[in-house]
Amino acid sequence: MARLPILEDLGDVSGKRVLVRTDFNVPLSGPDDARVISDDFRIRAALPTITWLLQRGADVVCASHLGRPKGIAENKYSMMPVRERLQELVPGVELLENLRFNAGEEKNDPDFVSSLVRGIDAYVDDAFGAAHRAHASIVGPPRTLPSAAGRLLQREVEVIDGLRRAPKHPFVAVLGGAKVGDKLGVIETLLSLVDELVIGGAMCFTFLAALGHPVGDSMCELDQITTCRRLLDGDKRIHLPEDITGLDVNGDYATYGQRLPTGAKGFDIGPGSAAAFSDVIMEARTVFWNGPMGMFEDLRFAAGTRTIAQAMAETKAFTVVGGGDSAAALAQFGFQDDVDHVSTGGGASLELLELGDLPGLAALRGAPNVR
Ligand code: ADP
Ligand code: MG
Repeated sequence: MARLPILEDLGDVSGKRVLVRTDFNVPLSGPDDARVISDDFRIRAALPTITWLLQRGADVVCASHLGRPKGIAENKYSMMPVRERLQELVPGVELLENLRFNAGEEKNDPDFVSSLVRGIDAYVDDAFGAAHRAHASIVGPPRTLPSAAGRLLQREVEVIDGLRRAPKHPFVAVLGGAKVGDKLGVIETLLSLVDELVIGGAMCFTFLAALGHPVGDSMCELDQITTCRRLLDGDKRIHLPEDITGLDVNGDYATYGQRLPTGAKGFDIGPGSAAAFSDVIMEARTVFWNGPMGMFEDLRFAAGTRTIAQAMAETKAFTVVGGGDSAAALAQFGFQDDVDHVSTGGGASLELLELGDLPGLAALRGAPNVR
């Protein structure tokens, strides 16, 4: 397999016009026609790549998607607030309008690719969060232009590759969040890599149901129970919560064991489980965490996620956090600087961990400067 080209592989960029695919999909607030950026982390994350290019005399043109417009221009998804912030940080850098204002982006339309590469001499992909999508701006430009991974993409790939190839043991994965169906594939792969797999969040109820426990009205994916039962079968490495907190049938806060009464809803792992999961994290030498342990946006159900975030901060293990909501939880509790790597891509980090490759990476490896 060809190697992933990095910035140095572009050769002399002086006087060249370089298209940089960034992930400027920032959180916004305020009215549709006067949106304000609530966190510019993703813009600042692209600066090492942008300044590397500027210092070597390149003209930089950035391009990104923002939100989910469906192929037409919408005020609330305008790049204007991002463009203004970018001008403050790196004056003179251009930013194209939201790529998803054109239906050709998600369809990977060759005409849209042509319009993107017109007048451009080289391409850099620094949008890890979108690298699992075969969209026009991701896979199109490397077909014709000298191309490279930016510094952010390079680092993300190095970290996840390291987890796949040579993790220090014990290697512990902690999974939570909402959709078990989306994460079953990665669970299969993780079981071939890890020593312990800790499961919390809404997805624990599908596993508890697979053990025959009643889960009340908690989120549970009935069509995934058989798969969960097969994964659990005799595998002592999988840890499920021993206690659950949630709301009883009257809507009052309640604590349960692994069996929930009719009408009860589980929204967090209980204190006993949080302590047990923390112990597993403290003993580890590598930890990958994706997905909150509970509905942490509601403070009544934030305790489990907070305890796990704190263990991630305190353990001596090499710690990697992937997933938008897990990263947000980590930041909410003030621990974002206490882990080794916070991935900028949730879906992309899971898919790279599961499959070992992404469409955006394969495209870069096939670029004319590496072939
Ligand atoms: P990530 O973005 O980190 O990959 P997900 O998107 O899979 O995580 O899931 C995050 C969402 O899961 C959060 O909004 C959280 O409120 C929700 N969640 C976690 N546990 C529960 C639960 N027990 N019941 C309902 N929702 C839950
Ligand atoms: Mg999410």
